[in-house]
Amino acid sequence: MKIKDKVLIVEDEQSISNFISTILAANGYDTMTVRSGEEALTMVSSHCPDLIVLDLGLPDMDGMEVLREVRRWSSLPVVVVSARQHENDKVDALDCGADDYLVKPFGTAELLARIRTAIRHTRTVLPGGQIAQTGKFVTGELTIDYDKHQVLMRGENAKLTVNEYKIVSLLGKYAGKVLTYDFIIRELWGPKARTDNQILRVNMANIRRKIEKDPGQPEYIFTEVGVGYRMRDGD
Ligand code: CA
Repeated sequence: MKIKDKVLIVEDEQSISNFISTILAANGYDTMTVRSGEEALTMVSSHCPDLIVLDLGLPDMDGMEVLREVRRWSSLPVVVVSARQHENDKVDALDCGADDYLVKPFGTAELLARIRTAIRHTRTVLPGGQIAQTGKFVTGELTIDYDKHQVLMRGENAKLTVNEYKIVSLLGKYAGKVLTYDFIIRELWGPKARTDNQILRVNMANIRRKIEKDPGQPEYIFTEVGVGYRMRDGD
C-alpha cells in the first residue's frame, strides 16, 4: 500500500480551506487543516506533514512569519497561496524559502501540479543538500544532458555558452518552480556576486534565441515578471 503524503493546509477562510482539502483528498493526499499561524507551527512540529499550503493573511500572524519560523529548522516544502499578487510579495516569499507561490484564485490543476513539483524536489535532494546532477532532463523537444553538459533542441546541440548552460541546467533541476533572480545569481555565481539582473536578462535573451521557436512567446523558460524564471515541467 502506498503511503499517502500528508499536507497541512493553513488557511483561515473556511470555504477556501474546504476547497483545497477536498481537491487534495480526492487526489490521494491526507490533509490536515488549521486556521492560524500558532496552530500551524504546533502541527508542523507534532504531525510532521510532507508539505504545507500556506495562506499569508492569517488572523494571528502573517504567513511570512510562519514561513520564516518553519525555515529556521525545516526544509519541508511550502506552497504559498495568497491574494497578494504584487511582485515583491512573491519575491519575498520565495527568497524566504517558499517553494512556490500561487495567487488566488487558482485552478485545481495548477495547485496539484505545484504540490507535486514541490514534493518531488524534496525527494531528489541528496544528503548534503545537493541536487542530483547526472542523467537527463527532458521536456517537450528540449533535453538537458547533465553528463555531457549540453542542451539539445530536437536532438541538436543548442550550443549554449558556459553561463547560458549554467542557467538552463539550474532551471531544469527545479523545473516547474519559479526561481528568483537573486536565487539564480547566488547559486551560479556565489553569495558575493553583484545582484544585477541585467546579466541574467542578457543571457536569457540569448538562450531564448537558441532554444525557443519564438523568443517572444517562450514555450520552455517562462518569465515571472519582476520575480524570476520558471522552466516548463512535464511533456
Ligand atoms: Ca486569509
